[in-house]
Parts: sequence; C-alpha cells; structure tokens
Amino acid sequence: MVEYQGKAAFGGIAIGKIVEMGKKEAVVRRWHIEDPVQEVERFHRAKETAAGQLQELYEKAQREVGAASAAIFEVHQMMLEDLDYIDSVVNIIETQEVNAEYAVSMTGDNFAEIFAAMDDAYMQARSADVKDISARIVRILAGKDTAEKSDEAGILVADDLAPSETVQLDKTKVYAFVTRFGSTNSHTAILARTMNIPALVMTPVPEGTAGKTAIADGFAGKLIVEPDEKTLEFYRARQQEEIEKRRLLAELKGKPTVTKSGRSVKLYANIGGVGDIGAALQNDAEGIGLFRSEFLYLQSDTYPTEEEQQKVYRQVAEMMAGKKVIIRTLDIGADKQIGYFNLDREENPAMGYRAIRICLTREEVFRTQLRALYRASAYGSISVMIPMITSLWEIRKVKEIVAKVQQELAEQGITCGNVELGVMIETPAAVMIADELAQEVDFFSIGTNDLTQYTLAIDRQNEKLNPFFDAHHPAVLRMIEMTVKSAHKAGIWVGICGELGADTELTETFVRMGVDELSVSPALLLPVKEKIIGCE
Ligand code: PEP
Ligand code: MG
Repeated sequence: MVEYQGKAAFGGIAIGKIVEMGKKEAVVRRWHIEDPVQEVERFHRAKETAAGQLQELYEKAQREVGAASAAIFEVHQMMLEDLDYIDSVVNIIETQEVNAEYAVSMTGDNFAEIFAAMDDAYMQARSADVKDISARIVRILAGKDTAEKSDEAGILVADDLAPSETVQLDKTKVYAFVTRFGSTNSHTAILARTMNIPALVMTPVPEGTAGKTAIADGFAGKLIVEPDEKTLEFYRARQQEEIEKRRLLAELKGKPTVTKSGRSVKLYANIGGVGDIGAALQNDAEGIGLFRSEFLYLQSDTYPTEEEQQKVYRQVAEMMAGKKVIIRTLDIGADKQIGYFNLDREENPAMGYRAIRICLTREEVFRTQLRALYRASAYGSISVMIPMITSLWEIRKVKEIVAKVQQELAEQGITCGNVELGVMIETPAAVMIADELAQEVDFFSIGTNDLTQYTLAIDRQNEKLNPFFDAHHPAVLRMIEMTVKSAHKAGIWVGICGELGADTELTETFVRMGVDELSVSPALLLPVKEKIIGCE
C-alpha cells in the first residue's frame, strides 16, 4: 500500500482500478517546405476546422454540463483567433520555411511557457488551454480527428487533462480524476466539480500504476495505491456514507428555496476566487452573495491592474451566467495585511485603518478596482458591495467616486451593466443608522463576523476570548433584526453573508425576521437549503 498526497480539487471517495490516460504526445516532426504561402493556407484551413470542432464541443458541453462550464470552449475559440498566436505560427512557417505542424507545436509550447510563468493563477491555468488548441490543430493537420481516449472504467490518472479531453470523457466510466500536474483553478478542475466527480491535482503518482486497485480520496487529496483490506473496508464504509449524504441532499437540487408557507429566501454562495465557482454551482447556488475581492490582492506581489481584475470579475460574471454576483470591494487591514500596501503598524488594527477607510484615502487604488468592476458588469449581473461602513458621508463619498468612474467609462465608450450598490452592515454604527443608509443604497448584507466582534468587543482573532464569545448573543440577533426592519421600511432587500448565515440553528430565526438572502460557503448550501425548506 502506497499513499500519494496531492491537492484536493473536489470531494468524494472513489475505489477502482487505475486507468492511465495515454497522452501519447505525437512527436511533431519538422521538415522543409517549398511554398510557405501554401503552407500558411494549410494552417488557416486547419484552424477553421478546429474552430468548427470547438463550436461542436461548446454545444455538447452546454447540453451536458451547462452554459457556465461550456464557456471554456468559447475561451478556446477566442485563443484560436488571437492575433499574436496566429502571427507567431505564420512567422515560423515563413521565416524558417517549415511545415505548419511544427510551427503550431512550437507556438503552442512557447505560449504555454509564457502563461505558466505568469504570477496570476488564472493565466497560469491558461497554459494547458493553449497546448490543447495547438494539439488539436496539429491533429487536424496530420489528418487525425480525435484525441486518444480510454474506454476502460476506473480512476483516471493523467499528467494533466485538457478541458476538451475532460468534457469528452464518458462520465459513467470515470470514478475520479487524478492529475500529476494541473491546478485547482483550472477549467478541468472546475469541470470535474460540475460533473460531480472526485478530483485530485498535483498528485505525484509514478508511471506504471495502471491496472492496480486504488482509492482516490477527494476530501484529503490523496491517492492510495494497492490499499490493504482494512483501509479498503474503511473507505468502502465512507463511500457509502457519502453516497447516502449526497443522495439526500441532491434531492434538494433544483427545488426552489421556499419555506412551507411559501416565502422564498435567496441562497447564494461566498467565494474567495474563481476556483470556488464550480463548488458553488455544483451545490445549486442561486448567485454569489460575497466575493471577497481582497484575495486577488493577497495573491499578488503588487497591485493587481485594472485589466487583471477586470478579467477575473468578468470570468465570475460569465461563469454565473446571468445570476447575481455580489463583489465586495477591497477589505484589507486588520488580519489581512499586504506588504506592498505599506500599512503602518497599529495598536488596535481591528479598529484601525482597514477596508473602506483605505479605499477613501487611497482613491487611486479604489478607482482602479471600481473601473474593473464596472467594466466587467457588461458581462453578467454584477453588484458592488462596500465593507466596514460606519457613517453616511462614507457611502455618499463612495457614490461620488462611482459616478465619476461611470462617467469616465461612458466618455471612453465603454458600456457597463446595471450595477446594484450595497453596503455591508458589520459595525454597530451601521446598524444604528441603517434607516438612513438604506436611503442611499440598493441592498444590505450583514457581516456577522465583524458585527459580532464589534458588538461584543471580542477580537475575532483571539482564541483566549472563546469563553466570552457567544455567536447567538441576543445583542447580535437584535442588531440583525433592527437592520432587517430598517431595510424593509426603505424598500430594499437584506441578506446575511457572515458565518452566522450558515448556522442552521438560526435559519428559522432569520426566516422569521424576514431576511431575504443567505450567503454561505458552497459546501453548506444544501444543508441550509434543507433547513429553509423545512421552515414554516
Ligand atoms: C463579516 O465580517 O461577517 C464578513 C462577511 O466579512 P469578513 O469575514 O471577510 O470580514
Ligand atoms: Mg467583515
């Protein structure tokens, strides 16, 4: 029995024989050609065929895994039309007088290397995509129409899987995906989640395990090859438990989140990045209630540019395919420190220079994010949410800056969508002036993590204070109720995106208070849904 530790990309337990996906990368030969003009034409014809195939794949994926996941093949179609890519192929054919297969393969490798070296995780994940489209064109040029496929059922082990390979697999024959490379942010991982198949990435399985019995533990991210009988027994039992749990919860999918008396509550997901969207959709999220955008900044060594941010926000909006996506503006400071912001050391950071306080005093940083958000809003249903508001003037100032950004974008001929603007209610001050704040915005979302910290004067980072901490403290619950009343009086909707929103002991209380939306982590969506449906 040998255990290989990888990274969990999607939970679940699979037991079966290992099927090694034969990559058999075609060796691309290089030869001299006499007529570069004709060779360039040959390349263009193959490119057109590839575009047709990708359109077919897009339609197949749309039918089988939904529009959001199918979007990757649109990305491939766009990559195929990328002028830098085409120029590079044509240039190699013309200057080196070589065959199109070689030029495409070289270009694919070069671009893949460039993407892989980028800091941005999303761009790194595009490395596999550019290789995928290049391999497709090479296959077409060589007169082969399809990629190698395995018909055996089992745990699929591969170096990496291209999204097109993933979607073409026969779902009933793949018990789990295990890749030696790949990232949890790749579209393949997203597709695995959408297909509801346990998935592991970055798992160092050696060659030569094909045919051996194995256990893929998608929760712990490990592959156990040739398990002993005791381990097998343990995992068989776990598998049964999981099957039963999922069966019960899966029955709720697609059902409206409505109480017995017919009141509907919106059930959205909290995410930290694009990589979480698969899990959100998988668990029936009706939208994204909190995208903590600061993770984008935390993952970077320098300020993410407008372009970089726009791409991420756009991708989330597109993947959610028209469902509401609430993106919270930068909330750093306190426990979330970022070196390049050069923030001073503070005596009392939780009460210090953080979130909107930084954005309103470093307006350029804020404007860059707002421009990216409003630009991305043309691609879906984006709402913008402002954290840590304590005073009316703050939201009025935010609205002034937003108006300027919108005007600037309009002058540049950039179209934006209809963006709802909301605030987080996470300070007692915001609760007390919620009636006035409600006149300024389209919605409220209650951040119970900070609201509890500030109401009870208990540092959320300090575990020594655990004995004094009461998540269900009546003061906090009354604050929530006050906020709901103020919001409804002004005719706006109100949700909860703090952890308390997923506390099923309180679901009934929240429903009774009239909370319109709950935003919880993806894995908790179905348990909360179950609770809402059970409410009177
Ligand atoms: C909150 O404070 O409840 C919240 C959702 O924000 P964060 O946990 O990111 O501070
Ligand atoms: Mg907060």
